Amino acid sequence: MLRIPRDEPVLFASDTHLAAEAPGTAARFLDALGREGPGAPHLFLLGDLFELWVGDDGADPLAARLAEVLRGLAARGVSVRLMRGNRDFLLDVPRPGASAAGYGARCGATLLDDPCPVELHGEPALLAHGDALCTDDLVYQQWRRTCRDPAWQAAFLARPLAERLAIGRGARETSEAGKREKPGALMDVNAAAVDAAMDAAGARLLIHGHTHRPAIHRWRTAAGVERTRVVLTDWDAEAGRGSLLRWDDGRAVG
Ligand code: MN
Repeated sequence: MLRIPRDEPVLFASDTHLAAEAPGTAARFLDALGREGPGAPHLFLLGDLFELWVGDDGADPLAARLAEVLRGLAARGVSVRLMRGNRDFLLDVPRPGASAAGYGARCGATLLDDPCPVELHGEPALLAHGDALCTDDLVYQQWRRTCRDPAWQAAFLARPLAERLAIGRGARETSEAGKREKPGALMDVNAAAVDAAMDAAGARLLIHGHTHRPAIHRWRTAAGVERTRVVLTDWDAEAGRGSLLRWDDGRAVG
């Protein structure tokens, strides 16, 4: 298990939803990385970095720019770690027969499993994107199982890029329309799923994104265990939202 000692600050972000159509948000994120990135030896990006990702061969100039910034941080000694989200679940998934370096390697980054247990400043913690914990949304969970299946992914990635982009864009529109009809509770984590995941990992701290409901929740389990769940913010420059979370000396600062 990854162990991060107490004297090594960590930066977290998720849900930047980078897209050419939202240059302000991309600028906000890249500025934050440039300003704060060199000041912490660890950077964790916990999924949905990109609004849409249909394969590493579809990386656009924005993805190339982010890779350059992350590679620059890595060159300065920052450990950069990436987790896939529900929008960029194909990030760094090799295409059948492709020989080019994956996006993670282009960023000088290591890919993380979801969920990923870590020891963070002495505390047993679990890092996740968060979508797997939204277990009340049965339709989404069924789709999640489908799109994480290696055979499904290989078949999808074998299609031409233009076709994958068209399918991906169509799916996003359907999903956005569906979201407007889903009750809010369906789009949040399920408390029992959170406790089960933390039980399985022996974690006292959970850090995730995805729900766009930034907060720090504290509770005590039936067994009397104190737990904390930190929800990362999403990024939207037009709404004035989005910042890196800095974890310093065992707690969130700033
Ligand atoms: Mn998400």
